[in-house]
Amino acid sequence: MKTWIPDGRNFSYLNWKQVDALPRESTLLVLPTAAIEQHGHHLPLATDTLINNLLLGHALQKLPAELPVYALPPVHYGKSNEHIGFAGTLAVSASTFMAVLRDLGASLASARFQKLVLYNTHGGNTSLIDVMARDLRAEFGLRTFALHGSGGISFEGLSPQEHAYGFHAGEVETALLLASVPELVDRSAYTVNYIADVNASAELLPENAPATFAWLTRDIASSGVMGDPRPATAENGARWLEQAATKLAAALEAMAHYPNQRPS
Ligand SMILES: [Zn+2]
Repeated sequence: MKTWIPDGRNFSYLNWKQVDALPRESTLLVLPTAAIEQHGHHLPLATDTLINNLLLGHALQKLPAELPVYALPPVHYGKSNEHIGFAGTLAVSASTFMAVLRDLGASLASARFQKLVLYNTHGGNTSLIDVMARDLRAEFGLRTFALHGSGGISFEGLSPQEHAYGFHAGEVETALLLASVPELVDRSAYTVNYIADVNASAELLPENAPATFAWLTRDIASSGVMGDPRPATAENGARWLEQAATKLAAALEAMAHYPNQRPS
């Protein structure tokens, strides 16, 4: 797996004596969670994992050197059952995913680490991340944090339609890969599919509405794409990467400074 994580912040490059010497109170460990799943005809299965590593790696580069923040190896497999039926999707169940996070939390707690970030870049994992951040706090006393996607940047330049409904293998994901691993993007194989019109009012939508239906990709997007990759450019991808890395770095810095104990 390609990695953009700076070597000095790669937890798995340390030996156990070096890990044992880390300050337990202040060390912030980041557990990346993503997916191996279909991303249309033009992007690789590892898209969410590559984007996670790309954004996190660039964010870590921006942190002050003295801040003890380390990236754990990623959980590559996610809850991707919405993409079952497309060859290559490797999904784990919700209970398996949560069990893996629980076991990793138990391992870190047994080594007396205190601060853990769950950094997720696959939408199908999002609700489980929020559950597990609270459960790891309750069960092991870990000070846990949840961090999602690009850290809330506005993606200037995206159309309102793509902003609302370009959420899988659309312009953003394609641009980020064009900016980082263009050799993995097949520009001759773009397909376009929107699952709803941002201007149309409807009682029941698959996303972004008070009333939704549970969807499987094969029900709503035969190519696997939800969005329009055609306007994607490496230039926009590089700009969004820089903006996201800045936001994520600010969030990680706030987490690193967040007190472990509640002030009395
Ligand atoms: Zn994706």
